[in-house]
Amino acid sequence: MKKLYHLPYHELRRKIFDKEIKVKDYAQEILERIKERKDINAFITINEGILEEANLIDNKIKEGEKVGRLAGALIAIKDNICTKGIRTTCASKMLSNYIPPYDATVIERIKIEDALILGKTNMDEFAMGSTTELSYFGPTKNPLDKERVAGGSSGGSGAAVADHQAPLALGADTGGSVRCPASFCGIFGLKPTYGLVSRYGLISYANSLEQIGPMAKSLKDLSLLLSCISGKDERDSTTLPLKDFNFSFEKKGKIAKRVAIIKELVEEGLQRGVRERFYSALEILKDMGIKISELSLKILEYAIPCYYIIAMAEASSNLARYDGLRYGLKLKEGMENFSLYISKIRGEGFGDEVKRRIILGTFILSAGYYEQFYIKAQAIRKIIRKEFDRIFKEYDLIISPTMPSIAYKLGEKSKDPLEMYLGDIETVSANLAGIPALSLPCGYSSNMPVGLQLMGKPLSEGLLLSTAQEFERIRGENFE
Ligand code: GLN
Repeated sequence: MKKLYHLPYHELRRKIFDKEIKVKDYAQEILERIKERKDINAFITINEGILEEANLIDNKIKEGEKVGRLAGALIAIKDNICTKGIRTTCASKMLSNYIPPYDATVIERIKIEDALILGKTNMDEFAMGSTTELSYFGPTKNPLDKERVAGGSSGGSGAAVADHQAPLALGADTGGSVRCPASFCGIFGLKPTYGLVSRYGLISYANSLEQIGPMAKSLKDLSLLLSCISGKDERDSTTLPLKDFNFSFEKKGKIAKRVAIIKELVEEGLQRGVRERFYSALEILKDMGIKISELSLKILEYAIPCYYIIAMAEASSNLARYDGLRYGLKLKEGMENFSLYISKIRGEGFGDEVKRRIILGTFILSAGYYEQFYIKAQAIRKIIRKEFDRIFKEYDLIISPTMPSIAYKLGEKSKDPLEMYLGDIETVSANLAGIPALSLPCGYSSNMPVGLQLMGKPLSEGLLLSTAQEFERIRGENFE
């Protein structure tokens, strides 16, 4: 029998509104599911107040009070998004006891819509990684094959949604962290246009690249969650001056007409099964009447080094605050020597990958090397942006696989950082250019899901979603 937790949120919502089910019973069912599937390790912390909070929503509905667009939605939140009163660790020993005194803007916004925080999901430490193996709390496993990773760094959010431990989740994407787990776990994930969603309360890794993004089992749910979290925020000066950004699915939207594929993203390094699924997806797009052209964008050969130089430089600066005085672990002894104290705190509190990036980032920004690395990377970033602008004058979308392979085996990439970085080739450009990118499932290879990525010009989320919706329809899948 289909359990409630199998349903996408919009179906649950109907039942909640019709008083067919109680949010509290649903929450109870979800909590049991999470317990049963503990070995997936999707969550770091569960919201202990969830049943009480569910009760409040039930009462509101019972009393006929107006409830929000996300009434009774239990949302899994990546553990680098601050939640008032609920531990927020960034999957790091450094923040393992941190309880934020405030909510991130996205959390405030979903709470206004009567959503409930289900818990905080596992991730690579400080969002640095593509597998969720680099967590202080142990790796998250892929629910479709427990020998494989869930992807990262928002792997806990991806696994929770795919494994029906949560109907919806929030992740954050600096270079692919929403899209990679969406692809590896077979769900939908979107990185919004830079500035569409507030970063206030998102613990920074590389702030010029990252955006919080929704993850869901259906496009309808994805667009609802996106609508609820989007828009100007006075507390994040990089947010765009937009109000009431509504990606409604009620009316049929415009779909793309001309689509580009980029040789550098589809030619080399793709696993055979991924390539096959990608080319079958192109056939579906052609059936939709979409014209597909192949272009070459040589500059993308530098996308990975450009991304990692900028990301590491920003990380070294953003993570300087964890000194044991302002933020981070506290030691009772050793305060008399500040240098020793801070080294001890940082030595103990950070994992190897985080240390590697802080050291490389500091090097990149140091006198004498700054021009050689950082300035050059910024120049390349500018060219990538310009080239995308140029392409989007002629084409509505760029499409590619989301990841060059299916989910890696546990341990396959995490031992060799360079290997892991190279797996981000399809995703990092959207962050460098600040454009929206959606990952949607497009079939299976070796029984594991393959993701298709749609990228569009800034604020073309509506076009991405309606094109994906039509793609789903033609593929004959029930996306509802
Ligand atoms: N894998 C990329 C990195 O390690 C992207 C991570 C992310 O998007 N947070 O930087």
